[in-house]
Amino acid sequence: VSLTISPIKDRDGNVVGLSKIARDITYKRNIEIKKNEFIGFVSHELKTPLTSLRSYIQVALHKAKKDEQEFICQALSRAEMQTKKMENMISDFLSISKFEDGQMKINPGRFDMANLIRENLEDARIASAKHVLVYIGADEAYVYGDQEKLSLVLTNLISNAQKYSPNGGTITINCQQKNQHFFISVSDEGIGISTADQKLMFGKFFRVNSEQTKFISGFGIGLYLASTIISLHQSSITVESEPAKGSTFSFHIAASTETV
Ligand code: ADP
Repeated sequence: VSLTISPIKDRDGNVVGLSKIARDITYKRNIEIKKNEFIGFVSHELKTPLTSLRSYIQVALHKAKKDEQEFICQALSRAEMQTKKMENMISDFLSISKFEDGQMKINPGRFDMANLIRENLEDARIASAKHVLVYIGADEAYVYGDQEKLSLVLTNLISNAQKYSPNGGTITINCQQKNQHFFISVSDEGIGISTADQKLMFGKFFRVNSEQTKFISGFGIGLYLASTIISLHQSSITVESEPAKGSTFSFHIAASTETV
C-alpha cells in the first residue's frame, strides 16, 4: 500500500489537520518488478552474446566467401540477418517507453504478405526440423501494413506453434482473401490451451503454468506484443484451441488498394 499524507490548511495557511490517502499498488508493483527483471535479462543475457555471435558470423562469412562455398555463405548471411533483426528488435521493442501501453507506432506500406509468410516459414524450418510447415494461400497477397512488425507477429505465432508442439506435427499457415481483407491463421497440433487460459494469454507477462509448459522457456510477452501490433492494424488476434488437440491463432489485415 502506498500512503500519501498531506497537511490540510485553512484560508490563512495554518495547518488544521492531515489528509491520508492509501492506494493498493501491489498489482502495479508486480508488473513493474517483472518488467525490470525481463529488461535486465534481455540486456545482459541476450544482447551481449548476440553481438558477439554476429561478429563471429561475419568472420566466418568472410572466410567462406574466399573458399567459394556458396551454400555456407548463404546460410551464414541468413544467420547474420537474423541476429541483426533480433538486435534491432530488442533495442526497438524493449526500450521501456515504447513498451508501455499506447506508445508503439506503426509505419504502414504495401507489401506481399504471402512472401513474408514463406520467408518466415523458411526461417522456422532452419530453426527446427521437428515439424512439417505448410503454407496454404495465394502466391501473392498484397496488404497494407507495417511489414517489420507483422513479421514479428508471424515469427511469434510460428515459434509458439513449434515450442508448444513438443511432439512435432503439422503447422499450417493459411492466407485467404475475403473482400478487402486477407485472413491469416497459424494452426498447430500441439498441447492446446484451456478455455480459462485463452482469456488471459494475450496479457502482459502471462504464461500458462502447467506440467507441460514448465520446461518450455519464455517470458509471456510474445502474444502481448503480437496483439498490440495487430490492434494497431484495426484488427485483433483470436484463438481457437482444444487441450491436447492444438491451437489456431487468426487475424486479418487490409488488402492494399494500390495497383502497381
Ligand atoms: P511465451 O511463449 O514467451 O511464454 P507468449 O506471450 O508467446 O509467451 O505466450 C503466452 C503463453 O500462451 C505461453 O506461455 C503458453 O503457455 C501459451 N501459448 C502461446 N502459444 C501457444 C500455442 N501455440 N499452443 C499452446 N500454448 C500456447
